[in-house]
Amino acid sequence: EAKTSGRARYELYAGELDQAVQQRRALENELRHALNANEGLELVYQPIFEARTGAMIGCEALVRWNHPTRGRLPPDAFISLAEERGLINQLGLWVLRRAAEYVRASDLPWVAINVSPVQFRDQDFVASVLKILDEVGLPPRRLELEITEGLLLQNSEHVQQTLRHLRASGIRVALDDFGTGYSSISYLRTYGVDKLKIDKSFVSQLGQDDEIDGIVKSIIELARAMRMKVTAEGVETQAQRVMLESLGCGELQGYLLSRPVTPERLTELSLPRASARKVS
Ligand code: C2E
Ligand code: MG
Ligand code: MG
Ligand code: MG
Repeated sequence: EAKTSGRARYELYAGELDQAVQQRRALENELRHALNANEGLELVYQPIFEARTGAMIGCEALVRWNHPTRGRLPPDAFISLAEERGLINQLGLWVLRRAAEYVRASDLPWVAINVSPVQFRDQDFVASVLKILDEVGLPPRRLELEITEGLLLQNSEHVQQTLRHLRASGIRVALDDFGTGYSSISYLRTYGVDKLKIDKSFVSQLGQDDEIDGIVKSIIELARAMRMKVTAEGVETQAQRVMLESLGCGELQGYLLSRPVTPERLTELSLPRASARKVS
C-alpha cells in the first residue's frame, strides 16, 4: 500500500513537472513569434539626471513584453528564457535597434541598453552593434552598454578584446548593479569601463546604516580615482538624493525622479519648455 501511494505521489510530481516544461516551451515559442513578427515587445525608458544641475542627460531602455494572454511581462519573466533558448542575441539586437532609432530622433544625448552576458560573448557582437548604429545613423558616443560584473569574472581574453573594441569605437560601457557581484579593483583596471551604476540595494538603505553609507561613499571615490562616471540607481527618496549629491555622485536614476515611461512621454519630459518654445 505504501508503494502505491508513493508511486501516485511520484506521478503527480512528474505531471506537474511536465506541465511546467510545457508552459516554458509555449512561452519560448510565443517569444520567438513576438521577435519574428515584431509584435508585442516594446521599450520603456527611464531618464537619468545629472545630480549637479538636475538636467536630464540620458535614459535607459527597459524591455517589456505584452504577452497575448498573460498581460504585460517584466524582463525577469523572459530574459533568462531567451538566454537559455538561444533567443537573446535576436532580442538584444531588436532592443538596440529600437532604442537607437528612438534616441536618434530625440533631443536626448544618449541611451543605455542592457546587454546579457550571453549576448556580449557572442563572436559577432561588436560587428552587429556597429552595423546597427551605422544603419540607424546613431553616432557610437550616443550609446551606452550596461553589462554586469559576472562577465568580468572569467579572465577572458575575448571579453577584454570586445570591451576594448567597443570603447575604441566610442561606445561607453557601464557596470550595472555594481557592488552585488564580485568584481575587484584589479578586474576594473584590467577591463576598463566608463561608468559604475551603484546597485539599488545600497541606495535603498542610504542614511539608515553607517556601513552602507561608507560603502556608497567608497564606490563614488573609487569611480573618481579611476576616472569613471558614477550613477546611483533606485533613488526613491529626497533624503537619498540629498545624501548622494553631498557625496558627489554624478548621476541619479530612480522613481523619485521618474519611473520608466513610454517613448512618447519621455519626449514630452525631455522638452520641458516645449510650450515656451512654441510661443517664441
Ligand atoms: P537594471 O538594468 O538594473 O534596471 C533597473 C531596474 O530597476 C528596472 O526594472 C527599473 O524599472 C527598476 N527601477 C528603476 N528605478 C527604481 C526605483 O527607484 N526603485 C525600484 N525599486 N526599482 C527601480 P525592470 O525594468 O523590471 O528591469 C529589471 C532588469 O531586467 C534590469 O535591471 C536589467 O538587468 C534587465 N533588463 C531590462 N531590459 C533588458 C533588456 O533589454 N535586455 C537585457 N538583457 N536585460 C534587460
Ligand atoms: Mg541596467
Ligand atoms: Mg541595475
Ligand atoms: Mg539588473
